[in-house]
Amino acid sequence: MNRVREVIRQLVELQERDQKILAVEAEIASLDPQRAGLRQRAEAARTRLDGIRQEIKANESHRKDLELEVESQREAIARYSIQQYQTKKNDEYRALTHQIDTCKRAIFQLEDRQLDSMEKAEQFQRELDAAARSDQEVRQTVDHQLGDMDEREAALRQALAGLQEERTRIAAGIGDTLRGQYERLLKHRGARVVVGVEHGVCGGCHMILPPQVLISCRTSQELVQCPNCSRILYFTPEMDMSQAGLR
Ligand SMILES: [Zn+2]
Repeated sequence: MNRVREVIRQLVELQERDQKILAVEAEIASLDPQRAGLRQRAEAARTRLDGIRQEIKANESHRKDLELEVESQREAIARYSIQQYQTKKNDEYRALTHQIDTCKRAIFQLEDRQLDSMEKAEQFQRELDAAARSDQEVRQTVDHQLGDMDEREAALRQALAGLQEERTRIAAGIGDTLRGQYERLLKHRGARVVVGVEHGVCGGCHMILPPQVLISCRTSQELVQCPNCSRILYFTPEMDMSQAGLR
């Protein structure tokens, strides 16, 4: 194998590791947003449960108020009854009868509201049971998925360490100048630095390559870069030169 072809082979090998490294790093980076999404789901379930608990409390305290109100209306009735018993005046007696009737109507309405509140309490209890079940299910699912993600991350980090080791080993076999060139392209173009030529175009930017560049590529006497994107070009016999008519 000639020297240029050997260098290309090493660069392609390095590039394969870099592509894998970038993919693994991207997957690791995607884990935290996924975790945040899962935690949000668990929080939403918990917030709903807490909300229902609050409503139950508010409803209970409302019912206590109603009870107190009924109580005070009953006391008023008792008071008016005693006054009725004590009075000798007919108009005063009638006025007290009217007061007592007003209290009784008020109690009637309060009892209606107490019934409403009791129905609401039953409804809230059903909602609470459902929300508690859902909270527990969501929490179990989320915990399970978070555990899976931690395992996945550990595996990814291990794979990454292996890939980086391989990368260091491969990079050490490539000359400093060429490696520097590769690293600069990697930084600007991502992990597609060494690209094939097919149908006479650059495999990176797809520009049609001048015939002279294609000839240089085919003869592999020197390292050729795309005049447009500067990526390192290579050519193997199974690639098609047809577009430039150099078959
Ligand atoms: Zn190009």
